Amino acid sequence: MAIQRTFSIIKPDATARNQTGVIAAKLEEAGLRIIASKRIRMSREQAEGFYGVHKERPFFGDLVAFMTSGPVVVQVLEGEDAVAKNREVMGATNPTEAAEGTIRKLFAENIERNSVHGSDAPETAAEEIKFFFTDAELVG
Ligand code: ATP
Ligand code: MG
Repeated sequence: MAIQRTFSIIKPDATARNQTGVIAAKLEEAGLRIIASKRIRMSREQAEGFYGVHKERPFFGDLVAFMTSGPVVVQVLEGEDAVAKNREVMGATNPTEAAEGTIRKLFAENIERNSVHGSDAPETAAEEIKFFFTDAELVG
């Protein structure tokens, strides 16, 4: 498996509880390198654009409201098989189904307020990285 990049968000439920450091540590312990990171407040337009694939889903409005309710930390992660490795350390979308030791099992509040986002494929990772970062911001 080659070195890949993936995109991660530490969501508002986690920034509110001061859990950015412990979540970043979990990612690093899994062998992922944080090659770019910034704390931002997402605009409504950004959140709607980012989650555009879900715009017909019943939870879309609530999801946009949640993602704009407080600061988030957007990050680019790099490492061996990074997309799958990040999804593995994150755990299942619904924390009640997440494996022991995963970020969502440890920290998520519920299926919406689930502490982290991670790209689901290398192609979406490339798009999501470009959505939030310029090439010059990927500092290694
Ligand atoms: P993410 O894309 O955030 O990494 P995911 O790929 O595990 O999570 P998706 O199906 O892409 O899950 O859903 C995107 C986000 O929408 C979820 O992380 C969660 O915050 C929210 N969400 C998903 N399903 C539901 C639901 N049934 N009710 C409320 N919110 C939901
Ligand atoms: Mg997803």
